[in-house]
Amino acid sequence: MTTTIPRSTHSNPAPGQPVDIDHFIAGRVDARGASARTVVYNPATGQVTGHVAVATPADVDAAVAAAATAFPAWAATPAHVRARVMFRFRDLVDQHSDRLAAIITSEHGKVLSDAKGEVTRGLEVVEFACGIPQMLKGEFSENVGRAVDGVTFRQPLGVVAGISPFNFPAMVPMWMFPVALACGNTFVMKPSEKVPTLTVELAKLLTEAGLPDGVFNVVHGDKVAVDALLTHDQIEAVSFVGSTPIAEYIHTTASAQGKRVQALGGAKNHMVIMPDADLEQAVSALMGAAYGSAGERCMAISVAVPVGEETANALRERLIAALAELKVGPGTQPEVEMGPLVTDVHRDKVASYIDIGVQEGAELVVDGRGQRVPDGGDGFFLGGTLFDHVTPSMRIYLEEIFGPVLSIVRAASFEEALQLVNDHEFGNGTAIFTADGNTARTYLAQVKAGMVGINVPIPVPMAFHSFGGWKRSLFGDHHIHGPEGVRFYTRNKTATTRWPDDSQVRADFSMPTHE
Ligand code: NAD
Repeated sequence: MTTTIPRSTHSNPAPGQPVDIDHFIAGRVDARGASARTVVYNPATGQVTGHVAVATPADVDAAVAAAATAFPAWAATPAHVRARVMFRFRDLVDQHSDRLAAIITSEHGKVLSDAKGEVTRGLEVVEFACGIPQMLKGEFSENVGRAVDGVTFRQPLGVVAGISPFNFPAMVPMWMFPVALACGNTFVMKPSEKVPTLTVELAKLLTEAGLPDGVFNVVHGDKVAVDALLTHDQIEAVSFVGSTPIAEYIHTTASAQGKRVQALGGAKNHMVIMPDADLEQAVSALMGAAYGSAGERCMAISVAVPVGEETANALRERLIAALAELKVGPGTQPEVEMGPLVTDVHRDKVASYIDIGVQEGAELVVDGRGQRVPDGGDGFFLGGTLFDHVTPSMRIYLEEIFGPVLSIVRAASFEEALQLVNDHEFGNGTAIFTADGNTARTYLAQVKAGMVGINVPIPVPMAFHSFGGWKRSLFGDHHIHGPEGVRFYTRNKTATTRWPDDSQVRADFSMPTHE
């Protein structure tokens, strides 16, 4: 749990003691100290590893002012020169990827290979941003009238803000700022207060890559910092990724202030398993998708929908066997497959959903609450949990749990399975496992979700496509990164140009038609 603690007394902590994590403003770590801080944990040990600054509105003002000052020169920097900074940044992140992954594991808890994987997925967005001159090329029409030309091009918005969740400390911020910066914007990032260190490390690497001071800034904190960003008159646009209630709040509040907003929210992703599916493949995919990163992924599969009783019974038996083999422990140990949850508060919330499921009458097949973890210390562990005979009216089906809890909802037919997915309020990702092309094609055409996997459990789009859900998994018109990211962080300008020549005409008061 986070608690507000006063100004730090240990700016030079002894080894193993908690460190201070500060804002990053105008190219350097903010040395002013903080009037309040919250604690950061290592979830695998339960120990406090850091004290992160909590921004006041004045801190947010300082970061926005730095970004506003840096904007004109950065926007005027040729796109290919901005891209060169991204090339250097890409190499630096790659060089430091082991160190960055270790930071992620120590604050989030996910296993090291998973942490390294998210750094790679973030780097792919940087690689996309390296090609920004190609994306910013405009359109030109010669002779739209006699000696009149038309040109359309995209310009950056100004200072933009990003607000990110705890579950991807590297990847989600990198969904946002590489594209925004490459397009010529300057940026203020507010990472999750639970995992604050990584974004500051990325800021330092951006500076090392040659990014001018003030182009990328980091403020830490909670609702106070977020509200100051949402209402700041110099912020032009807000990218948010987090839970649905906060996403909706962000969208409503920032839109009312006239800002452009993309707010990605929560999920309840279903995997439909058809009777003709390769069950072995489906089960191993399901294990990774449901329990990888302790289920703390917005693309995690939390509902398995086997079609037909035979499929359901076979799936259940194989899942029980696979769960008995699931290795839970500290994410730093190479053989471990699932680490702890991010905080004790979150672990207890997820465990409370197991109680709710039992009270609602679902069959608790595997109970993760009894999980023993060798070397687990006071870590925030919970074992993999499986419910069967979950029904669509239960809270454990309707609500996002965001932990290692998988529900089996049995469907009698493909049509019933499809209807189930389409009726759910969330529509982030979904998957179908089948050997039949026609079934897969029908599912793809008719399912109401933003990202669909056909025999692929976690269909996260590559960086040169865009990421985003439907229904209450996304508020706003733009998905994130890829071509939609470029559109989000730029706006069109269209010019019609004529140069004086010898055939100047008299004033004409009719509608110009270029005839
Ligand atoms: P969260 O909504 O609690 O927090 C996200 C951000 O909002 C954090 O930076 C936090 O400081 C800030 N915040 C929290 N409460 C706030 C408030 N009342 N007012 C203003 N700002 C506030 O989310 P989380 O717990 O950090 O992350 C998990 C959630 O994120 C899950 O719901 C998950 O599905 C979602 N998520 C979605 C995607 C996606 O692409 N759709 C990706 C990753 C995570």
